[in-house]
Parts: sequence; structure tokens; C-alpha cells
Amino acid sequence: MKFDTKVVRAAITPDPTTGSILPPIYETATYVLPEVGKDKGFDYTRSSNPTRQILEENLAAIESANYAVSFASGMSAVDACLKLLSAGDHVVCGDDVYGGVTRHYDNVLSRYGLKFAYVDTTDKEAVRAAITPKTRLLWIETPTNPLLKVTDLEAMVKISREHKILLGVDSTFATPVFLRPLEFGADIVMHSTTKYLSGHNQIIGGVLATNSKNIYDEMKYIQKTIGAVSSPFDCWLNLSGVKTLHLRMRRHEESAMQIATFLESHPKVDHVLYPGLSSHPQHAVAKAQMSGFSGMITFELTGGTEAGKQLMNNVQLCGLAESLGSVETMITHPASMTHAEVPPEDRRRRGLTDGLVRLSVGIEDVEDITEDLEKALAKA
Ligand code: PLP
Repeated sequence: MKFDTKVVRAAITPDPTTGSILPPIYETATYVLPEVGKDKGFDYTRSSNPTRQILEENLAAIESANYAVSFASGMSAVDACLKLLSAGDHVVCGDDVYGGVTRHYDNVLSRYGLKFAYVDTTDKEAVRAAITPKTRLLWIETPTNPLLKVTDLEAMVKISREHKILLGVDSTFATPVFLRPLEFGADIVMHSTTKYLSGHNQIIGGVLATNSKNIYDEMKYIQKTIGAVSSPFDCWLNLSGVKTLHLRMRRHEESAMQIATFLESHPKVDHVLYPGLSSHPQHAVAKAQMSGFSGMITFELTGGTEAGKQLMNNVQLCGLAESLGSVETMITHPASMTHAEVPPEDRRRRGLTDGLVRLSVGIEDVEDITEDLEKALAKA
């Protein structure tokens, strides 16, 4: 199957009992066994569920993975990935990742003896220098949240293989439409399916995908042991959302490119970060490794924090909301919303200034989105 066919059809076959074109929502906790020691492939929904299994197979197919494991949130997928490690292990992590990830690493997992080093993963030598004999995992986001830094995956694969460490990639912003990190040799891909993969602001979910049977077996074991599983209904909603992923992503990207260009030429905008603009610091890497630049834009106004707040308080169509990757355009203030718990000094060091605005471009008419921004910018 070609990619666009996989998105719509992979793992989805008509229900054998009724012919229903969509898979049923198996909203059940348990399964009646035909006899002791025998089951029909399912024994308890924390371990496995037919609707979840279809979602996992579909997401594995579109990510070029042999296996995928679905979780109740992106964060529980990150957590499950880190549970592959043991106390004393060391993780090298990108310095610009979703604020919930650093909160989890620094405030929760560090209490269990895991150690973390944060580096700019666009700098290969900095990544090499951060690796210690105890390092077991290199964790990157590309593009990052919120600075949209793009990391060279080929280089990261080379480094992780040289040091025999795992490479995990949070590919939430790129989506498998534009980037499939396993094809570059990454060991694990993670998504917050809350975002583009479901696409309609209906669910919270996460997924890990891999080609390694050993990693998969461990992930499945963690999934059933901890139980942070996605509900059958959420899996079904995710399956519905994913069917239009390829169409949505092309529209998100087309509109984001137009809006990024509009913002870049606006007198009240100081600078724009969008991987598709030639002004983006890693535009060449993005162009070489991604087949599109996705729908996220980050920018700073000349008037700094106050102007940013005015803009966000005056938009009408764009929703001031703490999420991204949905059909609706959403605008966010990372310093007070998604990255509020990153200590202010760390934010400053990372270049995550208080005036930064993050825009998740939706699939409404691009002229309406631009007009909304134009009117709000006039008040900023
Ligand atoms: N990774 C990235 C890049 C994110 O943006 C987010 C949430 O915003 C997460 C992980 C966490 O996902 P969730 O909110 O589904 O737990």
C-alpha cells in the first residue's frame, strides 16, 4: 500500500460478523474464555483490546514500524519509554522539548535515580560531548516545541550507534506524513496523538512505535503492567481522525507557509521561526529530511511580552488554547502556558522568551486566519 492508502485502510477490514466498514468500539473490560487456559486473543482490556489493536497496527503501518503501542496520553508514552531504563542510567535530551517532558524528567524521574543532560541537538558535537558511559538514551524532538529547531536525524543515528545507545524521537510536530524517523534508523518514535494524528481536539493519547521486537515486548509489558492505556472509544476516535491525516497535513502546511510569510513581512513582528522559511536556521536540514514543514509557527513581536499578550487577547478566530495540531487554529503563549513550569532562567537560556507566540495553523480558510491575525496585530 502507498502511504495515503495506509492512512485510510491499514489494519482496517470489514467486521466479520456484520460487514460494518468501521471497526466496532469494543467497550469491554474483559472477555469470556471458551475454557480454562484458552482465549480468543484477548483476556483483559488493560493487556489488549481489539479496537486498540487496530489503532496500533494502523499507526505502526503509517510510521513504517513493525510495532506500535498506544497509551492514554503523549506523556504516558514518554514515561513508558523511560521505563526501559534503570536507576543510574543517563539520558541526553534536546534542550528545547515540550515543558511537560522536562517537568517529568527533572521533578519525577530524577527521584528514581535517572540522570538527565540537556543539549542543543542541532549541534552534533554538543550531543557527542554530553554522552557519558552511563548514557542509554538520546531523546530528541524535531521540530521542537516551541522553538521549531530541526535536528539532523542521520547525524543522531550515527552518534547513537557509535555509542550503542537508544535513539528516541518525539515526532509529534512532523507527523509521519512529513518525516518517518525509523526510516533513518531511529529506535523509537513517539507521538502525542492528541495532536495531528487524531487531529480534531477530541482525545488525549500517545503512541510509541519501533521495529525492534525486544523493545516492543518491553513496551507491551510496561503498557499492561502500568495500565496507562487509551480507552476503546478514544482509539476509535483516533482511527477516524487519522484517516484524513495526509489531506489535513498538506493543508496545514500550505496555510502555515502563507501565514509565516505574512508574519515575516509584518512591521510588528520581530522574527518568525518556521522550518519552511529560508530564514530558519535549520531550513536546509528540514528541506533535506522532511517532505513538508508542517503547520506550527513561532514568532516574537517587536513590542515583546506586552504586545504578544495583546495579540493573543485580541484574536477572535484563533483559539487561545493549550494544544496544537488540530483542525482549529490555536494560539499559545509558551512562557505562561505549555512551558510555564520550566524555570524562568532555563527558559531564558533556551531562548524561550516571554514574548514568544506559538501558532498552530488550522485548516480553516487561510484568508480568515490571516485577517484575524492582522486585526489583532493592529491592537498589539
Ligand atoms: N510531546 C510534544 C511535542 C507535545 O507538544 C506534547 C503536548 O503538548 C506532548 C509530548 C505530551 O502529550 P500529551 O499532552 O498528549 O500528554
